[in-house]
Amino acid sequence: MNGTDIRAGRLDAVQIADNYRALQPPLDEMQAIQEAARCLFCFDAPCTEACPTCIDIPGFIRRISTGNVRGAAVTILEENIMGGTCASVCPVEELCEAVCVKNTAEEKPVEIGRLQDYATASLFERGIQPFTRASSTGRHVAVVGAGPAGLACAHRLAMLGHEVTVIEARDKPGGLNEYGLAAYKMLGDRAAREVEFILGIGGIEIRKGFALGRDVSLDALREVYDAVFLGLGHNAVNALGLDGEDASGVSNAVDYIERIRQEDPSGLPVGRRVVVIGGGNTAIDIAVQVKKLGAEYVTLVYRRGEADMGATDHEQEVAQTNGVLIKNWAQPVRILADGGAVRGVEFEYTEYDAQHRLRGTGETFALEADQVFKAIGQHFEPTGFADSEAPALERGRIAVDAQRRTSLAGVWAGGDCVAGADLTVVAVQDGKLAAHSIHEFLTGAPDG
Ligand SMILES: Cc1cc2nc3c(=O)[nH]c(=O)nc-3n(C[C@H](O)[C@H](O)[C@H](O)COP(=O)(O)OP(=O)(O)OC[C@H]3O[C@@H](n4cnc5c(N)ncnc54)[C@H](O)[C@@H]3O)c2cc1C
Ligand code: SF4
Repeated sequence: MNGTDIRAGRLDAVQIADNYRALQPPLDEMQAIQEAARCLFCFDAPCTEACPTCIDIPGFIRRISTGNVRGAAVTILEENIMGGTCASVCPVEELCEAVCVKNTAEEKPVEIGRLQDYATASLFERGIQPFTRASSTGRHVAVVGAGPAGLACAHRLAMLGHEVTVIEARDKPGGLNEYGLAAYKMLGDRAAREVEFILGIGGIEIRKGFALGRDVSLDALREVYDAVFLGLGHNAVNALGLDGEDASGVSNAVDYIERIRQEDPSGLPVGRRVVVIGGGNTAIDIAVQVKKLGAEYVTLVYRRGEADMGATDHEQEVAQTNGVLIKNWAQPVRILADGGAVRGVEFEYTEYDAQHRLRGTGETFALEADQVFKAIGQHFEPTGFADSEAPALERGRIAVDAQRRTSLAGVWAGGDCVAGADLTVVAVQDGKLAAHSIHEFLTGAPDG
């Protein structure tokens, strides 16, 4: 194998910007009205049932069809305050659009995601703040984490008349909307503008660079505030546990994805031959993004079959149409390094045994690589609860009930730090449900 070939500037900034355009262009007014006209406005609409935040989908589509775009946006944002982001990042092909009655052999589903994007973008462009706060309840809630779960909770609490202080460890709010979602889904400063819109309701203060467990304890928050919501997300990355994992050129996909979002992508070092290990959406996101930065050969290797991949069919298709080669049924056994720098990965073929357990076949092969990304998942570690009474965990995450109450009195939790699908839309719903439960706890009233 040859020496490593990893460098910045494989493509110039103009080419990269062009590659990072949205996967689908936004709908214009005429296209939106035409697409809205395809909706049958179903009674007991299956699309609404499939939406984790229960958006009245036929309701907002009808408003678009009658030219009431502001009303459509409000219908969306009432249920999902991050409806703008979710329009671009939700796996609609597995949720609302999968069950649309128009989804038949002859017809395609109504493009709900693009219609949602059309309505919310129009409201944001016009700088409209459609929400107002209820009169003050005099209660004050601490929200830990300014990701989708925390911000959704904070917004709903503010709407219901509570004061909210959000404690955020990082310098910028937004969580993975700011640091993790693929740059071709979250164009420009969209995440920051959405946070601004959320804070525009008033009554929410964010303390940035302030961490639970380091700067304040959970016990102290419970003492000072009337209720606490934990929206901590995942805070640890799974390791491969292989020899050579610390070689230069080997890194965690999420760290590099963060750099693409936060730095000038044309200045990032990219390998000519890139290997991605993993089969979820993070693996697809890194593979597609390094291809867009100019990597020549990108191979994504996953240890099980295509149907077992965490990445949706749509995401797999996006990878393939961007020139990523997906190789199934192989697991990494060794990172191959030379002089401390990665030069390849040795894999072993895999198969299921009679009990459907994955096993190596003993046959190996090697892929040359100048850069290797580990994308084998993230998890939650309860490190923020040192010196405090900690909430009970369930399979490594914070245990919650249907109202997102934890085992500790006055403490709620939601998003990736609790069990459930790790999706933006699910985190938003958790935050919203927790806010209503907190409101009921603080005021005795089930709603505003
Ligand atoms: C690479 C990647 C791509 C993804 N792509 C998609 C996608 O396309 N579509 C989709 O629906 N979902 C996607 N997801 C999943 C989605 O981003 C998450 O499910 C969602 O962000 C979870 O929201 P959250 O608020 O629970 O956590 P996060 O977004 O992680 O936010 C948690 C916040 O808490 C803060 N925090 C953590 N610990 C502390 C502490 N001790 N003190 C103070 N603050 C703290 C963090 O800094 C962070 O701001 C992706 C995830 C990744 C990693
Ligand atoms: S299922 Fe499809 S056709 Fe029916 S209301 Fe939803 S989007 Fe419209």
